[in-house]
Amino acid sequence: MKKYDFIIAGGGMAGLSLAYYLSQSPLRDRSILILDKETKQRNDRTWCFWEQQTGPFEPILFRKWNTVEFFGTTYEGLLDIGDYQYKMLRGIDFYEFMKNHLAQFPTIEFRQVTINRVKDTPQGGFVIANDEPYIASYVFDSTFALNLKRPENHNLLQHFKGWVIQTEKPCFDVNRPCMMDFRVEQHGDCRFLYVLPFDERTALVEYTIFNDRLLADAEYDTALIDYISRFLDTGNYTIQETEFGIIPMSDEPTQERAGRRVVRIGTSGGYTKPSTGYTFQRTQRYLHEIVQNLVAIGKPRRRKPWLRRVFKKYLDSVLLNVLQYRRHPADDVFTRLYQYNPPGQIFRFLDEDTTFTEDLKIMSTVPLGPFTVAALDVLRKKVLRI
Ligand SMILES: Cc1cc2nc3c(=O)[nH]c(=O)nc-3n(C[C@H](O)[C@H](O)[C@H](O)COP(=O)(O)OP(=O)(O)OC[C@H]3O[C@@H](n4cnc5c(N)ncnc54)[C@H](O)[C@@H]3O)c2cc1C
Repeated sequence: MKKYDFIIAGGGMAGLSLAYYLSQSPLRDRSILILDKETKQRNDRTWCFWEQQTGPFEPILFRKWNTVEFFGTTYEGLLDIGDYQYKMLRGIDFYEFMKNHLAQFPTIEFRQVTINRVKDTPQGGFVIANDEPYIASYVFDSTFALNLKRPENHNLLQHFKGWVIQTEKPCFDVNRPCMMDFRVEQHGDCRFLYVLPFDERTALVEYTIFNDRLLADAEYDTALIDYISRFLDTGNYTIQETEFGIIPMSDEPTQERAGRRVVRIGTSGGYTKPSTGYTFQRTQRYLHEIVQNLVAIGKPRRRKPWLRRVFKKYLDSVLLNVLQYRRHPADDVFTRLYQYNPPGQIFRFLDEDTTFTEDLKIMSTVPLGPFTVAALDVLRKKVLRI
């Protein structure tokens, strides 16, 4: 049996990004096998993220914006996002770009198979797919399904349904994407819409909820129809595409290292930011670190300053606690964050690039009573666990 240097189990966002970073590194000649059950020929999702510099996906971005709109409880208007840009990347463009780029490397193979098992063995990382065995020095697994439900943790879901609509009347301003619009019934949850315009007659309109239970499909539709009729002067419109997704928002510890030779990446590796669900940029950053360490020391490690990581996780848990126990209306929490802090600073905070002092300053702008109760509750749970 051929032993590969790396097997990438799951050629989705994380798997293809990892292959891309490897192909850009001194390890570009290593043998890599990418396994996925799908051919990735559908536009199955759209990623939005913010970035200061020009990133690796600049040529294939679908849209990018220098400013974003926000509608909250006590503030509405354009947010000055400083030197950040809000970027949108369509899944299909990402998959096509990756396939074309990786095809240039004869040592990178693809196989369309269903993975049944990933296992750490003394000989290497081992995968069984379509009853065939494969082995490699390291397996990077993005197919592992997280099962996040331990009651001592906070386990919310971010779920959303969106439509790309084409309207009869020109009603969108291509320079004014709306990042969060809370002018909808909250039902005690965190519920908002976002509107990403492609041109003056076409936009992605998405209804997003943070809570612990999914809605019936018709409820998402009703909310979308209601929002479009109340806030957008569309005239007649047609639905061109539909997107539905669920992202875990959880502070439950996940196992990134599933053995000496098996590393979980992407959502499976717990890369999702617990308090926001944003995963795309964190995945790029983490995989970049993994490749740097593979090059430098031959090990797929990530740099994780312990104290900093624990504190940032603690802040995530506090926000999740406020949301889960409905300690304060979520629309007001997010409004205060964006109203009383420079929005670019909130992006840095969510990227975990702010200092301890900056974190405290940002936390002083949220409602102190409910956040203090949440902070103490999280501490109590952590102490009880010890
Ligand atoms: C609709 C949607 C929209 C999102 N939008 C955003 C966003 O705007 N911003 C953001 O930061 N995050 C977003 N996310 C969250 C996150 O960025 C994505 O889910 C992202 O695709 C996660 O990357 P991944 O590689 O971990 O998983 P995936 O991209 O899902 O890749 C996993 C791959 O494994 C394959 N696979 C799974 N099981 C098997 C098996 N048994 N055998 C073979 N192959 C298998 C799948 O076919 C898939 O290709 C979104 C998620 C969804 C679902």
